[in-house]
Amino acid sequence: MAKPMPAIFFGHGNPMNALEHNAWTDGWTEIGKDIGRPRAVLCISAHWYLPATLVTVMPTPRTIHDFGGFPRKLHEVKYPAPGDPELAHHVQSLLSPVEVRLDKRWGLDHGTWSVLRHVFPKGDVPVIQLSIDETQPATFHYEIAKRLMGLRDEGVLIVGSGNLVHNLHAYSWGRRQTKPFDWAVRFESQAREMILARDPESLIAYEKLGRDASLSIPTPEHFLPLLYVMAQQRDGDQVSFPVEGFDGGSVSMLSVRIG
Ligand code: ZN
Repeated sequence: MAKPMPAIFFGHGNPMNALEHNAWTDGWTEIGKDIGRPRAVLCISAHWYLPATLVTVMPTPRTIHDFGGFPRKLHEVKYPAPGDPELAHHVQSLLSPVEVRLDKRWGLDHGTWSVLRHVFPKGDVPVIQLSIDETQPATFHYEIAKRLMGLRDEGVLIVGSGNLVHNLHAYSWGRRQTKPFDWAVRFESQAREMILARDPESLIAYEKLGRDASLSIPTPEHFLPLLYVMAQQRDGDQVSFPVEGFDGGSVSMLSVRIG
């Protein structure tokens, strides 16, 4: 049997990364070269966060420009990846009895395409998205994600796209060299230790981790995609951080690769 696909959490950061070439995006490209071509990508993006679990089922998902105040050339980006309706139905049945609705309206949001544009620049790998149900606690997301583990053996790359530390109130727009806040560095290193120690329980209970965690995760949507990736971990899987760094002082660009 072919080696299972890894599962990867990407810290996507500023949408402009879609157009830029920097250490983070170069790292994403390297990841794509290293893992080879998956059969398809299932992406859980911070930017599809609503009170339901949905999976995109359209054969040709549109590129959604779900942001404002960025240059026109970013709004003109189209990521041409096809969908995979069969995989969407498969995900729906794997997650049962959770009600998963087949969605024909969303598409690919920037949490997905700003990263995948670098990982799979040709845009020829099929991509579907799974929404994050905002009404559910962290433990729900981790538990349902475990039901997706078999997809790794079917050549499906499970991607979580968010940011481990994501505080836009503290973010220095336009000043990339800003030194990261102490609380951001402390929380990121604490989280790294938990990830390396295979201790998802502590991360799932992030609301009990104190002030550093609450500053780093003021709202859960950029954090929860990490739990979907952590849930794919099996005995013997290597864990690595192929991309790292901080943007604007308060956004962690850490990537987490399982397997
Ligand atoms: Zn984002």
